[in-house]
Amino acid sequence: MRTFCARCGRSESPGRPLIQGLCPDCFTTTRRLVQLPERIEVVRCRVCGSLRSRRGRFSKTSLSSYIRDLVEEHMSRGRVAEGINRLAVNKVEIREGVALVTFSGSIGEVTLNQTIRVEVLTKSSMCPECFKQKTRRYEAVIQLRPGNRRATTLVSKIADELSAYPNVVEVEESRSGVDIHIAERSTAVRIVRELESNYVAKVTPTWEGSKYGHRKPRAVFSIRVYSISRGDPVIIQGSRYEIAEATPRSVVLIESGTSRVLNIALNDFWRQNPVFPEES
Ligand SMILES: [Zn+2]
Ligand SMILES: [Zn+2]
Repeated sequence: MRTFCARCGRSESPGRPLIQGLCPDCFTTTRRLVQLPERIEVVRCRVCGSLRSRRGRFSKTSLSSYIRDLVEEHMSRGRVAEGINRLAVNKVEIREGVALVTFSGSIGEVTLNQTIRVEVLTKSSMCPECFKQKTRRYEAVIQLRPGNRRATTLVSKIADELSAYPNVVEVEESRSGVDIHIAERSTAVRIVRELESNYVAKVTPTWEGSKYGHRKPRAVFSIRVYSISRGDPVIIQGSRYEIAEATPRSVVLIESGTSRVLNIALNDFWRQNPVFPEES
């Protein structure tokens, strides 16, 4: 029995299988390979351009990959036309207000291609991060201080580098050092860890109470950065030593008089309250 396309009347053949009674050409002109909404709404941060996912989180994804994800979600939820196999998104093209999504799928040995047009409605908003930056709210402060006089330039250099960080809302210089305000505590923690692993530094975390009337107390990290050279004197519990080596992890000391060599972890070194006689 010969079967024919219900629309154009051409007969079915191995190169022209029927899908839901239609030949591949007629199928792709009249039906959709996958059911997609006519229009999708996207919420975009007007400051940084990040897009809000449907779970509510903003991320720095491009509009085309956002739409690709959304379309693939529709595909995985079975919105694919019956009889179509191996449906895949080949391309997502963004034009003004429109996304053109090109699919390929197959029926038997025949490949079908189709471009579906979806209207994209972009709503302007502001992501929480940009909002925080805008209102200059901050959850944490890093108080960067020179541990010894020589470290003053090092502190300015570090502050300079940190001012370029995303999430840093303010860099405030004071006579004793530099205060860095950071929108999110987690970023502050990351910066503190970075400083700890790159410099000879002593970190003292505290909290700043609600004395300014903020609902949440702020995390304050006091960081003393040291610029230590070989041969620098240091006094620990009345004994005088000379620095042989100082790294972010440990300190090697030579006891004056006895020439005894001590290798101690930096944390243990700080615990003994070392005093650096100020270099002249
Ligand atoms: Zn046809
Ligand atoms: Zn933003």
